[in-house]
Amino acid sequence: MTALASAPKAHTRPAHAGDEGDTLAATTARFETAAAQLDLEPGFARLLQQPEKQISVSVPVVMDDGTLEVFTGHRVLHSTVRGPGKGGVRFDPTVNLEEISALAAWMTWKCAVVDVPFGGAKGGVRCDPVTMSRGELERLTRRYTAGIIATLGPDSDVPAPDVNTNEQVMAWMMDTYSMHTGHPALGVVTGKPVALGGSLGRREATGRGVALMAAKALQHLGWPLRNARVVVQGYGNVGSVAAQLLALEGCRVVAIGDRTGAFHNDNGIDTIEAANWVRVNGTLEGYPSGDRISNDELLTLAVDILVPAALGSVITERNASDVKARIVVEGANGPTSPGADAVLERKGILVVPDILANAGGVTVSHIEWVQNRSALYWTEKAVNDRLREIMSRSFREVLALSRERRVSLRTAAFMLAIGRVAAVHRLRGLYA
Ligand code: NAD
Repeated sequence: MTALASAPKAHTRPAHAGDEGDTLAATTARFETAAAQLDLEPGFARLLQQPEKQISVSVPVVMDDGTLEVFTGHRVLHSTVRGPGKGGVRFDPTVNLEEISALAAWMTWKCAVVDVPFGGAKGGVRCDPVTMSRGELERLTRRYTAGIIATLGPDSDVPAPDVNTNEQVMAWMMDTYSMHTGHPALGVVTGKPVALGGSLGRREATGRGVALMAAKALQHLGWPLRNARVVVQGYGNVGSVAAQLLALEGCRVVAIGDRTGAFHNDNGIDTIEAANWVRVNGTLEGYPSGDRISNDELLTLAVDILVPAALGSVITERNASDVKARIVVEGANGPTSPGADAVLERKGILVVPDILANAGGVTVSHIEWVQNRSALYWTEKAVNDRLREIMSRSFREVLALSRERRVSLRTAAFMLAIGRVAAVHRLRGLYA
């Protein structure tokens, strides 16, 4: 996707670190709403909520000054009934087992809603990567990988980058695992550098999926894409790609924002220029082609599409009644609190939920894994076409269920996902 300017991805502390709000409460609330619709028996519902496996390891690292630090790492496999566990590894001071568990469950539902044959997993190390050197990060990554190696494997558990981890961290994880198994195991992680078996199109996949879901939502409501007015919060990997792709489709991106502030230009922001600004300057700070507005104003502009693609819990009961967008497409994980769901629904705002809207990344992670396992590499066009096909089908399926059962797209997405995992559980039966 050469037309897109890319935002930098480095070891800088993202403001979305540990941002999903109360992830456990949000996941539980959404699960329970959907489970009630599905009439799941209580024992079975408990089984689907419990993680299969939780591993906590101590991660000793000799720091550059010769001192010994001992970090704590976790890896949680929430479900592997539909396929190997899939989910990111984050390095952050906020990492804790409870949140990693909730995020692992989230991955199970995300993979199931797009029908990617993976289960759900998540991992992390409680550390402050911003203060660590490259050598310290490499030693941390390798020791953490060795600590959780019993669960890892292309057939069992496949990590990916997440908060504060990147392609390089995945390369170190792949190498450590390969040294232990004695052969190169490309399919043990996704989000690798392209030269090391990463997939073309993976970097843009989440933003591409978000843009596609926005287009589908507009189409569903019978409104044209051309000149649709769009606001994007977050101008990183997800937000900047979604904004550029929507602009390429003829939408007018009238406001964008990041952690340093927000900018409004009713004639349309030049999304490529803005992405280049972020690449050069690190943030949107000082961006010259728009009027400065507050992040609160950004979220409440009267537009067709609002894409929150920065951090969790930005639309809450506090501001939900002020949201004037007609469609919200959740690029970030958990941008809308469960309390705000009801308010948006009452206002007739269509919400494309995170587990569907931002599933493009995990969809192309699967395509990367398929390429690694078949040792046959796809063109970027083939990857993007397959992504489009999967996301479009998933949108249709969620929409059909939401109409049939008269529930929100979010509840329908969770129902579809939970139903798929439950069906496989029933077929496999309980090993006793
Ligand atoms: P990123 O670090 O590349 O970009 C994050 C953006 O959010 C930056 O522009 C940052 O300035 C902005 N931001 C941070 N704090 C903010 C604040 N308080 N107010 C306004 N803006 C703020 O991250 P990303 O990869 O683009 O991820 C964005 C969101 O999407 C996160 O919630 C992430 O969990 C979710 N997500 C990402 C992917 C992926 O493939 N990258 C996949 C699924 C979900």
